[in-house]
Amino acid sequence: MSERDVEKNIDLICIDDSKCIVCGACVAVCPTEALIIEGLTLKSVPERCRPCGQAALVCPTGALRCPQKGEKSKNG
Ligand code: SF4
Repeated sequence: MSERDVEKNIDLICIDDSKCIVCGACVAVCPTEALIIEGLTLKSVPERCRPCGQAALVCPTGALRCPQKGEKSKNG
């Protein structure tokens, strides 16, 4: 895991930059716009996340970990 991964290992969405190909599939499926693409980078907006787990399900590379409702965050 890189330093960037650690920075992005926030409460609800964990993005593994080494796996993300910035395809936008997770952005398209997220119902609360908790994932956005800025430039060539996927970013998360944790305060928008309502942990439904949909983004992780559609990721073709396994780059996302989105805890589902009821799952305890590592950081919390
Ligand atoms: S679906 Fe996966 S590979 Fe595509 S932008 Fe989202 S995290 Fe990256």
